[in-house]
Amino acid sequence: AKQTGPGKLRFFDPAMQANASARAALEEDIRAGMALDQFMLFFQPQVCDGRITGAEVLLRWRHGDDGFVSPDQFISTAEQSNLILPLGNWVLHQACKQLAIWAQHEDTATLSLSVNVSPRQFKQDNFVQQVLTALASTGAPAQRLKLELTESVLLENVDQAIMRMSQLKEYGVGFSLDDFGTGYSSLSYLQRLPLCQLKIDRSFVRDLSSNPNDASIVRTIVGLGLSLGLEVVAEGVETALQVDYLRQCGCHIWQGYFIGKPQPLGEFEQMLRNKHRA
Ligand code: C2E
Ligand code: CA
Ligand code: CA
Ligand code: CA
Repeated sequence: AKQTGPGKLRFFDPAMQANASARAALEEDIRAGMALDQFMLFFQPQVCDGRITGAEVLLRWRHGDDGFVSPDQFISTAEQSNLILPLGNWVLHQACKQLAIWAQHEDTATLSLSVNVSPRQFKQDNFVQQVLTALASTGAPAQRLKLELTESVLLENVDQAIMRMSQLKEYGVGFSLDDFGTGYSSLSYLQRLPLCQLKIDRSFVRDLSSNPNDASIVRTIVGLGLSLGLEVVAEGVETALQVDYLRQCGCHIWQGYFIGKPQPLGEFEQMLRNKHRA
């Protein structure tokens, strides 16, 4: 189908998203995309000790002629407008629906889903309520839901963040610190936050086989996380060498193209049925 609006791919350029009128056009397109049900979830497998234990949920926009548009091309615009609120809430509900379905079958009952939460979503006054509503209205088991947050939003108002996280933690919801190592790295806050996981940013994993600095950063982050009693997850794992090194460091949980790209639900479930091992 031809796009009627002004939002062809040229508006998805991140540089263009800084431009007010281009951003307004993209906003219109996002709104239309939501009305047309063009958004969908992809699932990227996560493995622990070689077994698929769940997935990270990654948003995709099925945009007419342009195929699947990656969130890098629209999330920041959605974040700057309020569109991230309905969009993020939709993602949360879809993920919870899936968890509720999986919970009914023995083979899938222990799978977990990690959902990215945008700063604006987390800062909403009714954030806790929205998560609880998503869980209650779908019947999803809270212990299977992980919410991924970045450092900046947690450090902006640490006490408020701790309060929100603690409230949800009581229900069993876990929190993962995404892109760890790229932000402010306020280590003193790290132990105060009720986290269950650290995710090592892909940028450190990428070159760890060739760059000794990255290799030692990864080793350090794994040691730090484990010593704080957290799970440590590596993202962007693409090679067997990386898996071996991570395992040596004590990191047994990872995701990346080496096990699987983000994929539609059907493909992810097929992978589960094939009992894929890595
Ligand atoms: P992220 O949370 O850091 O997600 C990881 C990104 O790395 C994903 O990009 C994923 O496709 C990519 N990736 C995973 N494994 C590999 C690998 O082995 N090699 C390489 N080269 N890349 C890999 P994606 O799906 O384009 O998402 C980009 C970002 O958009 C995410 O970064 C996340 O910050 C944001 N995002 C995605 N979905 C949502 C959402 O539902 N809500 C919000 N607020 N943000 C989202
Ligand atoms: Ca993430
Ligand atoms: Ca990440
Ligand atoms: Ca990242």
